[in-house]
Amino acid sequence: MSTTVENFAALGLSESLLKTLSEIGYETPSPIQAQCIPILLDGHDMIGMAQTGTGKTAAFALPLMEQIDIKLTKPQALILTPTRELAIQVAEALQSYAKNLPGFHVLPIYGGQSMVVQLRQLSRGAHIIVGTPGRVMDHLERESLKLDALKAIVLDEADEMLRMGFIDDVEWILEHTPEARQTALFSATMPNVIRDVARRHLREPQEIKIRAATATVSKISQRYWLVRGVDKLDALTRILDAEESFDAAIVFVRTKI
Ligand code: AMP
Repeated sequence: MSTTVENFAALGLSESLLKTLSEIGYETPSPIQAQCIPILLDGHDMIGMAQTGTGKTAAFALPLMEQIDIKLTKPQALILTPTRELAIQVAEALQSYAKNLPGFHVLPIYGGQSMVVQLRQLSRGAHIIVGTPGRVMDHLERESLKLDALKAIVLDEADEMLRMGFIDDVEWILEHTPEARQTALFSATMPNVIRDVARRHLREPQEIKIRAATATVSKISQRYWLVRGVDKLDALTRILDAEESFDAAIVFVRTKI
């Protein structure tokens, strides 16, 4: 399947979202967007093997937003992410795509944030919830989060959720959401446990695979040396002295100092 799609209009998005995309400067869909958006707009479940940087957030966020009934202030989509940072980042992306969708409300909920604040925010209502598994589960158990109007669920960075020990919580959540929902699972890698989750909880998913846009090109070889902090400068100097095959170097550092 060709992944070259000239513009977002060809993918079947609404006028309102097309206007927003043009305003925020998205001109051409990335390969993952070109493939995912039509599948999700058609209501299919899907598995996307893709990393951050490929444009995967918009790939699932835009079709989700097309499904939202703004008049209904109940969670209609749930996005699970492994970390609080990612939850906030995804919620911000959704908010930016909602520029021309007055009344749209996305709420990030994650561990470590005050329960009182979250309970208040949840009681005000939101159309899309972006959350970390533990805290989402907590709210479902307290019934402060009700998912009876849920139409879609996205598992973002499923392999990271597995690595961080959240996969049982993710399955619990999947078991406590309406069966008729649409499910999309994104993962950079596809370990067996994630495959099993997909087999148990997704219905005839369409599978797409995107090579990371940032993959190292084959001409670059990578090596590393483990040195003690105090020896870093000596080691670097010696490497630069010993290497003959370059004209210049870029040194990436952590701090200004
Ligand atoms: P993501 O992989 O979802 O984290 O997206 C990586 C970055 O690419 C984000 O800063 C997005 O705002 C940006 N982006 C995503 N899709 C497009 C697009 N079609 N055109 C321009 N920028 C995009």
